[in-house]
Amino acid sequence: MPKFSRRSKEILLTCVENLQVIMYDVVAITDITIISGLRGEGEQNSLYRRGLSKLPFPNSRHNAIPPALSEAVDIAPYPIKWKDTEKFYYVAGIVMGVAGMLGIELRWGGDWDRDDDLHDQTFMDLGHFEIVR
Ligand SMILES: [Zn+2]
Repeated sequence: MPKFSRRSKEILLTCVENLQVIMYDVVAITDITIISGLRGEGEQNSLYRRGLSKLPFPNSRHNAIPPALSEAVDIAPYPIKWKDTEKFYYVAGIVMGVAGMLGIELRWGGDWDRDDDLHDQTFMDLGHFEIVR
């Protein structure tokens, strides 16, 4: 059974408990790594400037003022192959299935408007999941 690295566990601790619960269930099914949880101002604005995030600090769901935790998490299939988008879709299906079974509403970066249409996106962020408030 796959397990998280120490680094993945540390990042996951910066995320709200519901995201932690989901991701521990997911990693028991398929190997994933945690890429990003809570982001401070410098990191967020750097990603924004490079076009890797749509939102400047503090508007991303990854942004919170500690001790508040991130309501978003970025993950990747492990081992990481960024161009293997099929694997990202496979993992996202598992994440959304696990969240649904746990009764936790998530929004995925491959279906921002949550209409189950995966072809109407303008910004794909296939490893991004956030809690629906
Ligand atoms: Zn994200």
